[in-house]
Amino acid sequence: MKSSEIREKFLKFFESKGHSIVRSSSLIPGNDPTLLFTNSGMVQFKDVFLGQDQRAYTRATTAQRCVRAGGKHNDLENVGYTARHHTFFEMLGNFSFGDYFKRDAIHYAWELLTKVYGLPKDKLTVTVYQSDDEAYAIWLNEIGVPAERIIRIGDNKGAPYASDNFWQMADTGPCGPCTEIFYDHGAEIWGGPPGSAEEDGDRFIEIWNLVFMQYNKDEQGVLHPLPKPCVDTGMGLERLAAVLQHVHSNYEIDAFQQLIKAAARETACTDLNHNSLKVIADHIRCAAFLIVDGIIPGNEGRGYVLRRITRRALRHGHKLGQTKPFFYKLVADLVLEMGSAYPELAQNADRVAQVLQQEEERFGETLEHGMKILEAALAKDDKRLDGRTAFTLYDTYGFPLDLTADICRERNVELDQAGFDAAMEHQKQTARAAGKFKMNAGIEYSGAKTNFVGYDKLAQEGKVIALYVEGSP
Ligand code: ATP
Ligand code: MG
Ligand code: MG
Ligand code: MG
Repeated sequence: MKSSEIREKFLKFFESKGHSIVRSSSLIPGNDPTLLFTNSGMVQFKDVFLGQDQRAYTRATTAQRCVRAGGKHNDLENVGYTARHHTFFEMLGNFSFGDYFKRDAIHYAWELLTKVYGLPKDKLTVTVYQSDDEAYAIWLNEIGVPAERIIRIGDNKGAPYASDNFWQMADTGPCGPCTEIFYDHGAEIWGGPPGSAEEDGDRFIEIWNLVFMQYNKDEQGVLHPLPKPCVDTGMGLERLAAVLQHVHSNYEIDAFQQLIKAAARETACTDLNHNSLKVIADHIRCAAFLIVDGIIPGNEGRGYVLRRITRRALRHGHKLGQTKPFFYKLVADLVLEMGSAYPELAQNADRVAQVLQQEEERFGETLEHGMKILEAALAKDDKRLDGRTAFTLYDTYGFPLDLTADICRERNVELDQAGFDAAMEHQKQTARAAGKFKMNAGIEYSGAKTNFVGYDKLAQEGKVIALYVEGSP
């Protein structure tokens, strides 16, 4: 079943259960400073959950474009390392606004997975929130999942991959206990069931999260009951497609294979399994959709996330030997793959390609020089990259720190973060002192002409003006 059919079947199933099909909202959350990007289907309904907005319907279903590359949900560092994480993905969801609750949500999910999509029941494992006896009983007694495949899970205390059955959109806002459905890809793949020591493997892959939205969390962390309990579910289209297309990794599904082939064509890479191709395919989706939704590469906030993602993709291209602009050419391939589901992508394709090409041209030269500097440093010490070099790469060659860190991780090299921080602090102080000097000079020599090169020039030289602080809008 192709990805587009899977999406269609999902929406039609919930339409048949009285849900209104609602279009995906933008990746930029409307009027919400608590969130960097739309990271799930519920974001466009946040105010409906809170009781501050009313819709003509109490049931909705969506295929929502999502980005998890900053803020509370950040999967950038997982891309290229797991079979299941993207920076950009599509989340299929059904929502109840004070209408049905746990029972119907669970029954609908099971019916869709096992009857419509035909998944074998014995490959599915579920989790419930540790104290949620109600959900547990529905799975056990009404659905008939054997007790050994219903696992109680608590709040994870920050372990990076660990399951967490209390879902929250951000540090504040709507939240509640959840129940999740996992698919077992088979014993030949490393990993264990949720809650076990090996759960961070890719054997048991979480496909669907059903959240029972019950609270609004305030800034002090206090939970206030919502006016009415609601349901918010999210299933990754790519993960479901992997299951239905009988492949293990999301990168093997139809939608990704086309992009991976296109990336191979543009980089002349002959190994279609090369990890860099996966990263490039992931990043073109993310970068293109961010631009569609109005972001341009920049040195702050959302624009800096876009710049970091784009530059990481370019570095992977460089690793494959491509030193000329190539990334922007993948926009056309992306349009072929996703343009009909997202007409806004097709309509903006030329602009998207242009923005990316500019960014490629801007970074191309400094990337080449920067890589030489990095290689020279690693030739001297292949265990640790000193902070000063990382800072020079950042400050003069436009290498975001996470890009350098990614290279280090790839090569098993430790990055001297403290040294980087010290070099950054030193530069700030020097800049402050220079600023004072300039002000004095301005007073003393008023009339002397200064030539302001402008931010654009600085950016072209790879001088990053502001640091992106994770979680800040
Ligand atoms: P995981 O534990 O695998 O990181 P999650 O618990 O963070 O997933 P949720 O926040 O529950 O994910 O999101 C709902 C669903 O969206 C998941 O069950 C999964 O199918 C999908 N999903 C989440 N993150 C990603 C991602 N980075 N790439 C692709 N699909 C994702
Ligand atoms: Mg996650
Ligand atoms: Mg999870
Ligand atoms: Mg989850």
